[in-house]
Amino acid sequence: MPIQITLLGTGSPLPSPDRAGPATLVRAGAATLLVDCGRGVIMRMAAAGVVPVGLTAVLLTHLHSDHITDLNDVITTHWVMSPAPVALRVIGPPGTQRVVDGMMEMLALDQSYRIEHHADLSGRPAVEVSEVEPGAVLDLAGASVTVHQTDHRPVAPTVGYRVEHEGAAAALAGDTVPCAGLDALCSGADLYVQTVIRADLVRAIPNPRLQDILDYHSTVEQAAQTAARAGVGTLVLTHYVPPLVPGDEDQWRALAAAHFSGPIVIGPDLTTVSAG
Ligand SMILES: [Zn+2]
Ligand SMILES: [Zn+2]
Repeated sequence: MPIQITLLGTGSPLPSPDRAGPATLVRAGAATLLVDCGRGVIMRMAAAGVVPVGLTAVLLTHLHSDHITDLNDVITTHWVMSPAPVALRVIGPPGTQRVVDGMMEMLALDQSYRIEHHADLSGRPAVEVSEVEPGAVLDLAGASVTVHQTDHRPVAPTVGYRVEHEGAAAALAGDTVPCAGLDALCSGADLYVQTVIRADLVRAIPNPRLQDILDYHSTVEQAAQTAARAGVGTLVLTHYVPPLVPGDEDQWRALAAAHFSGPIVIGPDLTTVSAG
């Protein structure tokens, strides 16, 4: 099939015993793309049958900790599992190089231990960072990836990625409120993956810091409205805030179905959807 998506992690910053942090795997022909690197990403990749060496590239939507926290694990595991030196490609908004440089500094001692211990490990991990702006078009192992602007202010810049392959299109939005850039990202896509929050449940939790998240995420309803406006095929929801309690899927789905008549996917980690 042209494009297959696996929700590696459907969680959020809020700890959950069974939902890893935000991360989505996209397979499109020869391309295997990892969008964001939340908590536990390597474990979920292993469950999906992918090791870091098998990645074409890592794509970061933004530099919030819940979306990048285990990038350091991807970097290290890619390095120690590569039989020969090979670069890990990391694509993200401006600021990505600074994050990677910081992770490399954090890992410097570990890297020196391993280089000293393993005769065949000669150099530090090679991480090839590309900082991209909206409008950029990339060819990643035959898949076309375009970069679109999203709106998660005050977090900026933030981007989403549209992956196209053999006539199918998947829109991978990170955290964002509805905006023109998001509509362009999703326009006519077969799959639209959106991180969401349940505004009604968040409002019921008397915690000021939690209330702050209401103004810079799409709610379930807003994601469905974007899906309808952009004419997407299937709406895929992830990054459930608060953590979705198993059994409540239909309740979440009903909120979206009031605004979008197409298929709506909500599920546990490793839920897989295909397009085309
Ligand atoms: Zn965020
Ligand atoms: Zn997030």
